Amino acid sequence: MTDFTKTRAAFHLPEGVTYLDGNSLGPMPVGAADRVARMMTEEWSQMLITGWNRAGWYRQPRDVGDRIARLIGADAGQVVMGDTLTIKLFQALSAALALRPDRRVILSDGGNFPSDLYVAEGVARATGATLRVVAPEDVAQAIDDELAVLMLTEVDYRTGRRHDMAGLTAMAHAAGALTVWDLAHSAGAVDVDLAGADADFAVGCTYKYLNGGPGAPAFIWVRPELADAAQPILQGWMGHESPFAFDPSYAPARGIERMRVGTPPVIAMAALDAALDVWDGVAMADLRARSIELTEAFIAGVEAACPDLVLHSPRDPAMRGSQVGFCHPQAYAVMQALIANGVIGDFRAPDVLRFGFAPLYNGLDDVARAVDVLARILREGSWDRPEYHRRAEVT
Ligand SMILES: *Cc1c(COP(=O)(O)O)cnc(C)c1O
Repeated sequence: MTDFTKTRAAFHLPEGVTYLDGNSLGPMPVGAADRVARMMTEEWSQMLITGWNRAGWYRQPRDVGDRIARLIGADAGQVVMGDTLTIKLFQALSAALALRPDRRVILSDGGNFPSDLYVAEGVARATGATLRVVAPEDVAQAIDDELAVLMLTEVDYRTGRRHDMAGLTAMAHAAGALTVWDLAHSAGAVDVDLAGADADFAVGCTYKYLNGGPGAPAFIWVRPELADAAQPILQGWMGHESPFAFDPSYAPARGIERMRVGTPPVIAMAALDAALDVWDGVAMADLRARSIELTEAFIAGVEAACPDLVLHSPRDPAMRGSQVGFCHPQAYAVMQALIANGVIGDFRAPDVLRFGFAPLYNGLDDVARAVDVLARILREGSWDRPEYHRRAEVT
């Protein structure tokens, strides 16, 4: 059994704060500051350039990738770290599209995160492909034999709706297409099984449920059977088969290493590595069970206490990730009032109150407090103050 008391104690959570926004930015792991400090004082300052070998900086994108692999149903040697999710998504999508040269359609859904759709738009423009965007519930019926790549985010960032990764991947394969899965709201939140789902490409960020810190590097996975065939379009020197030969022309490294681009963010990787320590001993099935317990309790509590709110997430937990959204016409101000009262969730335009439940550190006490505070704010109408309507630059 996973000991969630222990994982909870592994995070700095400010006194008096109920943090339900780990789906935007996970809290700081207790071990992260020391790890980064050690990287600076023992590695960078003492080893200088030799740190690339002596401290393992060069291997780190693979070593850290191996630690993430277990959390997403992949094997060691199949994941590398680096860049941001947007860039890794570009790497995956462009490589997938190039593996289906006779086809030119990319299919995604309108609930996908804007950056993903922007990248697909850009890739489509650059390659003469067409981006087809349908409603999330219409994806299955939009799969046809023109399709080159099905590009989806498994868990919708606004609604928390979870696609059936295995089912849709099987349909895409039957139609002759490849799949690219974005795990931004899945990795560390739900029980992802890339191998079991027979997926082709997957990418994700590490600053949400994996708690790697703001700007933490992204990851990319390619199904092993495709890893030596997939051609990266961003052909960086660190994805070359022998980077230190400084060969003027590109030859891809073997396997997933070819998806590396340039110099990895070593300082950020140290914080992420410390964050991954917390996952040792966490069973993903326990994580999923706890996540469902928390989101079910929150939905039941809010629906009992807040008649003005309308559930914006699937009611069936099997169809849901680890977050819950509720709609309110003044959601922005309501969320600002919640934050002022120590319950941190976030607002997503136009009218969604979004609450992320991270099983590593959220418990039923957080659910109870969030429901209480939300019910009181709505009952008293105390959200309707000028300061809560004022928009910040980043919401
Ligand atoms: C958070 C998120 C991103 C952000 O991408 P970055 O390059 O890390 O800024 C992209 N796509 C999805 C689906 C996300 O949830």
